[in-house]
Amino acid sequence: MAATMQVRGLIARETVQGEQDKRLILICVDQGRVYVSAKGAKKQGARLSSSTQLFTYGDFWLNHARSGWILQEAVPIEQFYPIRQDPERMAWASWMLETALELTVEEQECNEMLRLLLRGLQMITEESLSPMTTATTFVLRALASTGVRPETERCVSNGERAEDPAYLSVEAGGLLCTDCARHYADAVRIQPGTLYALRYVLNADDSAVYKYQVEPRIRSELFEFAARFLTQYLQREVRTLRYIRECFC
Ligand SMILES: [Zn+2]
Repeated sequence: MAATMQVRGLIARETVQGEQDKRLILICVDQGRVYVSAKGAKKQGARLSSSTQLFTYGDFWLNHARSGWILQEAVPIEQFYPIRQDPERMAWASWMLETALELTVEEQECNEMLRLLLRGLQMITEESLSPMTTATTFVLRALASTGVRPETERCVSNGERAEDPAYLSVEAGGLLCTDCARHYADAVRIQPGTLYALRYVLNADDSAVYKYQVEPRIRSELFEFAARFLTQYLQREVRTLRYIRECFC
């Protein structure tokens, strides 16, 4: 393994280690998930203190020691400060980060997902947009980029058209018609608009994927599906999602 490495990435987790150090997990363009120790970064006014905060995207210089990668220098490009000033936006953005981390592996490039995440974090700071819609869009699209996407064109079970009434089932893997929905305990009838929004999220160009708005009912149906779809894929509910459910749903 190289003794030094320069990476470009985003700090997706920040935890305190001992009295003065931080343990970081970066999502890097070329290297995927990278674990880094930031010595002394917990100290007030320390050189690495402000450049090692959660949501910091930038360039990082790392040295390899016996204990793993040690941060030498960090030059932020974007730190998404407005996210930290609003607890609700912070919660939605944290769900995005946790999802991205779960879907990232070590030593595997993740340029596409990182770009999607960075654009999503930018959108989360927009006052005029619903953070729930933005976070939901990221989660569905990030899952799709790893090959996990629900069927949304026809009934998963018998191939019939199913637009109105339409049902979604995580267990079945997507859209169901009325007949087939009876066989799935988790099937939920959805608004036609929810199906159209779901199709849009899965099929829109990267540059347009966040640029849509939906009414609250559709927004929450889409969120419920995304949350359950993610939970089934990971086989557990992520911590940030539990917090969102307790405080913002
Ligand atoms: Zn069917």
